[in-house]
Amino acid sequence: MTASSIAARTDPALGAPILADTIAEMTYGDVSAAAARGAVILWAFGVVEQHGPHLPTGTDIYIPSARLRLARRFLAEAGIEALILPPYYWGVNHVSASFPASIKVRPEVMAALMGDVIDSLGGDGFSKVFLVSGHGDALHNRTLFEAAEAASKPDGVQAAFVADPALFARIGVDPASPHALATTAEPEPTHDGTVYADVHAGDWETSLMLALEPDLVRKDDLGGLPPTDLSADDLAEWRKGHDHARRVTPDGYLGDPASATAEKGAASIVRDARSIAEAIAARMAGKR
Ligand SMILES: [Zn+2]
Repeated sequence: MTASSIAARTDPALGAPILADTIAEMTYGDVSAAAARGAVILWAFGVVEQHGPHLPTGTDIYIPSARLRLARRFLAEAGIEALILPPYYWGVNHVSASFPASIKVRPEVMAALMGDVIDSLGGDGFSKVFLVSGHGDALHNRTLFEAAEAASKPDGVQAAFVADPALFARIGVDPASPHALATTAEPEPTHDGTVYADVHAGDWETSLMLALEPDLVRKDDLGGLPPTDLSADDLAEWRKGHDHARRVTPDGYLGDPASATAEKGAASIVRDARSIAEAIAARMAGKR
């Protein structure tokens, strides 16, 4: 499967309900049989958070869910059976915390819930749980990693956070940890922007949502959103969160949403899904 063979919205795995292809559509017998066959678990972590005037608050839920639906297919091609959990979406909001509709959950609440879910999976006979994040907030991602580490059992279920090495570096996670699994994807061409920093509801995320859920994007408004054109210092100020972020980005986006296209978004989803699947396949083969 290549990026060009998956055009935006022509593949049902792209724009699908977030419970599609998850265990919520299976019977307990199906799930139990998959555990007995050695299936791995995939789990996406999003958040309900403001994404500018043009994207829905569930952006960070839709995106990783789509990545996992495709990653599951790539894993099947590699002979690895995977089940997808319904996405986790009560995440930690630090950066966007001062905006409406950015639901704030304490890290310890998220970690406790993750621990119980991973324990349940271990009790059902699953031994590998792979977590991916759709939300860039550093505290959210540190919580994810620490909870994966804490929930793993020496002779039982093992959880690992699958992410790109730049994220691990930013949140201070050692990529050599057994609970970290670094992907080797090329950096997103638009993500760090040679022209503009583009990290939140900009070109990158807007392109993804145009590919996945175009009806949820306020397309008529896109042309009127100027690029934020922020420096590295502005980005550092924004990452301090709360009122800092609201001052730096009063409209809630950081990047260039008007440059977004569905084609870029579809290509990005395929690239990310492939890198997630490759990292998991390498881990399962004992190579990473
Ligand atoms: Zn986002």
